[in-house]
Amino acid sequence: MEILIIVSPPHLYYTSCVKRMFAKRVQLLVTSHTIAIDTKAKAFKSHGIPVINLSVGEPNFHTPENIKKAAINAIKEGNSFYTAPEGILELRQAIAKKIINDNKITYDPSQIIVGAGSKQLLYTAFQVLCDKGDEVIIPLPAWNTFVEQVKLAGAKPVFITLKPPFKLTANDVKKAITSKTKLLLLNSPSNPAGAMIESDELKKIADLVVKNNILVITDEIYEKLTYSQRHISIASLNNDIKERTITINGVSKAYAMTGWRLGYAAGPKEIIEKMKALQSQLISHATAISQKAAVEALTGDQKSIEMMRKAFAKRRDFCLKQIAAIPELSVNEPDGAFYLFISLEKLLRKQYPSSAAWAEALLEKEKVAVVPGEAFYYPGYIRMSYAASDEDLQEAFKRLKKFIEV
Ligand code: PMP
Repeated sequence: MEILIIVSPPHLYYTSCVKRMFAKRVQLLVTSHTIAIDTKAKAFKSHGIPVINLSVGEPNFHTPENIKKAAINAIKEGNSFYTAPEGILELRQAIAKKIINDNKITYDPSQIIVGAGSKQLLYTAFQVLCDKGDEVIIPLPAWNTFVEQVKLAGAKPVFITLKPPFKLTANDVKKAITSKTKLLLLNSPSNPAGAMIESDELKKIADLVVKNNILVITDEIYEKLTYSQRHISIASLNNDIKERTITINGVSKAYAMTGWRLGYAAGPKEIIEKMKALQSQLISHATAISQKAAVEALTGDQKSIEMMRKAFAKRRDFCLKQIAAIPELSVNEPDGAFYLFISLEKLLRKQYPSSAAWAEALLEKEKVAVVPGEAFYYPGYIRMSYAASDEDLQEAFKRLKKFIEV
């Protein structure tokens, strides 16, 4: 009798063994969708393929000269040592001043922590505040990092699926609150829809939060990029809500400093202290040079912010006009940020049954990279970033029209 023994190749055997060793909490974790698409687009580019990358969430401007100079000086002056985990006092003082001036909230520098980007501070905040069994309310469409980070903290994301124009109301929040709710996540202007919460609704949401004894994490990274209404920080509304809010922000978007990895959080002292303890065990602190650069960003000439905002506003209007001329597409006029969240409702047929398939084909065939709605827990849409050059946007729409017409 012959016995057939099937032996898997050693590398496959090894891979499956290693996979079984992963902790449960990371088994379903994948690289951020937007980063994955950006990486694919960059790979095309490195092979000389003229891809237009509208997937990425970063300004296409260079960091302003005064900030670059401050960083160069910081290197020359020997800022090469560890700093305090919460960041240098000079920067936390500058942030406190910025928050008073721009956001009308008063914080002592001890209530502020600096980290390696607002993304890391969001992670730190969820880790500090969430346990298994806790619910975190997240309005959709949402940046998938919020959802993944909540899950990594062991908590359960509870979604509010917003309808266009994707503006959160107090009534939406009221319906989502349960006895297990720990946190409400706010992101206004939002990624990916660029939607802002109306001020009267924000006040009602603050009252609900206080009444139900829950906390708020508000990601205000796009506060400087608004086109139709003024940004209001929920923590500025009254002292009760201030005591329940962690405001997250950073220099990435407002000062074109994505690669410098510098963000900050402000909130109740006890929470910031715990975030500081966790950060001290995790990254120690944000890069010393970036901290010095951020001091200049916040205290130096602010002209570049308005220059960039105006450029984005012009590009937004250009894109909206282009989309209006394509009957198969529809979009809501965003209030802020630099994204358009475009509905593919009229386009998803047999050939491309989902926005993910559609976006993939657009990249393969016309070499235009956009992010499918699936990445924001909102299929049927694509997110297009207009933080790109005028020439790239013009060319992207030419290719998009061609792709749709075929
Ligand atoms: N928050 C939101 C809503 C974002 O869209 C992004 C970038 N995509 C970030 C935070 C990350 O910002 P940072 O560079 O400060 O980590």
